[in-house]
Amino acid sequence: MRKLAILGGEKVRKTKFPPYTPIGKEELSAVKEVFKSNVFSRFLGCWHEDFFGGPQVQASEKEWAEFFNVKHAIAVNSATSALYCAVGAIGTEPFDEIIVSPYTMSASATAPLIYNAIPIFADVEPDYFGLDVDSIETRITDRTRAIIVVDIFGQPYDAGRINALAKKHNLKIIEDCAQAPYAKLNGKFAGTLGDVGVYSLNYHKHIHCGEGGILVTNNDELADRLRLIRNHAEAIVEEKGQSNLINMIGFNYRMTEIEAAIARFQLKKLPSLVSERLENVRYLEKGLSQIPCLEMPRIRYDAEHVYYTHSIKYIGQASGIHRNKFVEAVKAELMPIELRETEGIKVGCGYAKPLYLQPMFQKHIAYGSNGFPWSKSGKNYDYSKGICPIAEDLHFNLLITHEYMRPGMTKEDLDDIITAFVKVWENRREIGG
Ligand SMILES: *Cc1c(COP(=O)(O)O)cnc(C)c1O
Repeated sequence: MRKLAILGGEKVRKTKFPPYTPIGKEELSAVKEVFKSNVFSRFLGCWHEDFFGGPQVQASEKEWAEFFNVKHAIAVNSATSALYCAVGAIGTEPFDEIIVSPYTMSASATAPLIYNAIPIFADVEPDYFGLDVDSIETRITDRTRAIIVVDIFGQPYDAGRINALAKKHNLKIIEDCAQAPYAKLNGKFAGTLGDVGVYSLNYHKHIHCGEGGILVTNNDELADRLRLIRNHAEAIVEEKGQSNLINMIGFNYRMTEIEAAIARFQLKKLPSLVSERLENVRYLEKGLSQIPCLEMPRIRYDAEHVYYTHSIKYIGQASGIHRNKFVEAVKAELMPIELRETEGIKVGCGYAKPLYLQPMFQKHIAYGSNGFPWSKSGKNYDYSKGICPIAEDLHFNLLITHEYMRPGMTKEDLDDIITAFVKVWENRREIGG
């Protein structure tokens, strides 16, 4: 038995893992064309044909809409901006309640606050980690306006049941699909399962252009309002003859021509990048599923998962040691990913700390120092520990997430990942198991 690296033994892996670099020469030549054209952006913040952006932005939107089989795509500068646009466009009123997931990237839960609405946390599903329909139902009140669902880790939300619940209560669904481009449910693309969908093009995601985001919707009126909020709505509503002024303050969330040119080529590569990811996951799971304390991710009926992260459930009873100890030992066997060295070893205990436990929610400090908007809402909002027990258990005890299944990993690289987990499993007694 080889000695565990955490106890001073030799690491399974001594060199860095290959970087994930989906951007290549096609994107470079597209960027050169943008340079030649000398048009780096062509948005005008007044009512003019250029209100909707330059040729690359408009072409990327058209191609995105065709690819995902949806009527409108609207390019913005991040998925965070996209979420803010979406919350505004659906007509959110101050003190409306918007149901969100605690187990996601922070912007999917803070977006309601931008329009002075209140984020209400529902719990997640123990097996698929998306918002749980029964928990959502317990959170609905006469103030509920919308649900922000998240296709977490690359798997579509429970659209069948959550959409039906939303319809019954006349709620809008904003789908945060930042982690699941090309995932499907019942043959339909994730991102297009709710009223408005949001994709991210930041450099952590399946495809990217540095920073960027895309909104999609089949609703003409929503699309119009999203485009307005993206580009200084307030400056043009009069000339445009816009009668619905709700949430038309507007921002500058415009995407540049360079980002759009890169995004266009990235979209063409999405299917092959996803299929390489799936192949890597299949290979890893063959090796990892033999370890009794690991449970491979489950896939919802009729869903196609695209594995933004590979999220494994850890069965503490099977191993006799806490997940954190196990993961620390696995990390000690491995090395960082090239170009992402600063992020350390990409194996994690849990994912995001349940968001209501963050100081902003714990202390009710968002706008100013007096607890606005909560303090003026006329209600008490409880963000205490325990309100979403499943999310807490996943984060603090059960979930292991890693990113060593990205395209660019060779079979030998994947073998090292498997070997590291197997080595720790076999030697767990050395660290107290
Ligand atoms: C990455 C991510 C975002 C934010 O994306 P940006 O483009 O960086 O703003 C939002 N939601 C989820 C679930 C994400 O993973």
